[in-house]
Amino acid sequence: MQVDQAQWWRRAQVAAAVIFAGAALAALIVPAWWLVAILVLSALLFARATSRLATGRIDRAYRLMARIGAGEFAATDDPIDDEPGLRLHRGVARIQRGFSEALAHAEAERDEVRSLLGSVDTGLLSLDEHLRVRSANSVAERLLGLTPGSYRGRFLAEAIREPEFLSFMETSLTSSGALSREIAMGSGGGDTLLVAADPIRAASGQVTGVLVALDDMTRLRRLEQLRTDFAANVSHELRTPITNIKGYLDTLLEVGYDDPAQVSNFLEIAQRNANRLCTLVEDILLLAFLERPGAERQVSLRELPVADVVNDAVEQLASAAAAKSMPIKVQVDAELRFGVDAALATQAILNLISNAIKYAPASTPITIDAALADGIVRIRVGDEGPGIDPIHIPRLFERFYRVESARSRELGGTGLGLSIVKHIAILHGGGVEVSCPEGGGTLFTVCFPRGSRVANHS
Ligand code: ADP
Repeated sequence: MQVDQAQWWRRAQVAAAVIFAGAALAALIVPAWWLVAILVLSALLFARATSRLATGRIDRAYRLMARIGAGEFAATDDPIDDEPGLRLHRGVARIQRGFSEALAHAEAERDEVRSLLGSVDTGLLSLDEHLRVRSANSVAERLLGLTPGSYRGRFLAEAIREPEFLSFMETSLTSSGALSREIAMGSGGGDTLLVAADPIRAASGQVTGVLVALDDMTRLRRLEQLRTDFAANVSHELRTPITNIKGYLDTLLEVGYDDPAQVSNFLEIAQRNANRLCTLVEDILLLAFLERPGAERQVSLRELPVADVVNDAVEQLASAAAAKSMPIKVQVDAELRFGVDAALATQAILNLISNAIKYAPASTPITIDAALADGIVRIRVGDEGPGIDPIHIPRLFERFYRVESARSRELGGTGLGLSIVKHIAILHGGGVEVSCPEGGGTLFTVCFPRGSRVANHS
């Protein structure tokens, strides 16, 4: 429609120009007032046509630019089919293309920064000078309990109710440089965060906000606590046998060697305690090896018959079982094979059989069987002992956890046996579980993947 109008005006413009030229020629040849009138009229008509056409072009260009200004970078308009109009249209289209490209570039950069901030382990939070939240990455959302999409533009105090954190943010707004502090969230009952806050300054030096980095220290603190507990437990476990050895040797030196029976008795006690010390140190070293990062690269996996590993463990404990008249019944398919570190797998099964011998009554049988299901070899060691109260089961595989400490020590237990079984299984990509069947007794099941898969040690 607009194109038609433009054509109409151009035709009127051409007609006016022809009339104007004709009238001017006639006025030269035959001077007459009516010819002058025609001349003036056609000049007016020509001027009006030209101005209407120009105004129309400018209006359309203006409208298109207004749409671009409003963010419609993909806005288009019908091209104007005369030469000046086309040039104007092309100019506007060039501006439009420039804007559109600049916007796409800015959006790509923004997405890149966003994914970069989203992929770091540190929580990042940006606040304005009134402590309103500008942005936060997903780690900061998790650590501060911010609901995604709900906090932007809100005052931090509305989103977080942690007085120490809020007052630290206020302090950092007025500080001359970066500050950092460890803050226990949930008023001491939640995660411990290492909070680093750095004021953001404009070129004029005025503070325009704060950039906050958050690191979760909870896991680190928990690990430190575990290490401290472990050191305390080890010292405690070592002290008893060392004190015993020292005590009996001191007494022996004091009383002399006149009574051979007493000397032999004291030496036997010292030897028993020395053996206990050796077992304890060996268990601690084995556990330290199993828990070390990269331990999986130091084990040698071999494809073996499951029966060989089970029988090896049974043989090593044959005399202990015989001493308590406990038969060990093994039911393992000779064809069943798995990929394991032979020494470690034998150690895991040995620990389970040894516990059955220790805690089940004399003359009761121990049963061992193995089965393959879903690519996992499950080896079960069952006894007819007292079983384990379910309240102990969640902590049973922790280091130094014992149901009855005195009984375990009396039986020569270190409190590390089940923890070692668990770590050997995990190292192979498997696991261990315990159940107490209805008829009584305890049943441990240790699982190893059939293939030679070694777990990523964490
Ligand atoms: P320990 O050296 O004390 O035997 P473990 O880690 O091997 O340490 O076992 C932890 C605790 O689990 C033991 O102290 C014992 O109380 C309990 N336990 C383990 N195996 C059995 C079992 N077969 N029957 C009853 N209790 C068991």
